[in-house]
Amino acid sequence: MHEVSLMQNLMNVVASAAEEQGGGKVMTVHLRIGRMAGVNADSLRFAFDILSKGTVAEEGKLEIETVPLVIHCRGCSEDFNPEQFSLTCPSCGGKDMMIVTGREMEVDYILLEDEKSETG
Ligand SMILES: [Zn+2]
Repeated sequence: MHEVSLMQNLMNVVASAAEEQGGGKVMTVHLRIGRMAGVNADSLRFAFDILSKGTVAEEGKLEIETVPLVIHCRGCSEDFNPEQFSLTCPSCGGKDMMIVTGREMEVDYILLEDEKSETG
């Protein structure tokens, strides 16, 4: 399953982002995954559990935000929110369709452990 190699790349992004933000532990990793991205959220979670071991994100949790599919017709300038990508415009029947959102696969943000709360 390609989610593992995908998550490996995301973990690299997370690790360098955590370093830039001060190098604390990563408590939350928030991903945005488009409906058309072709990845399985459960597989991603599974991959995260394995790959986060021994990293700054070991104690972190993975949040996955699903981005809906939105397509745009250049013919009639309408936007649609279909269940599946269609090459034909449901409104004017045109075939000049583009995907606006739905193919994202990115780390939206990460949250680091709040070190201030540890001072006692
Ligand atoms: Zn149209």
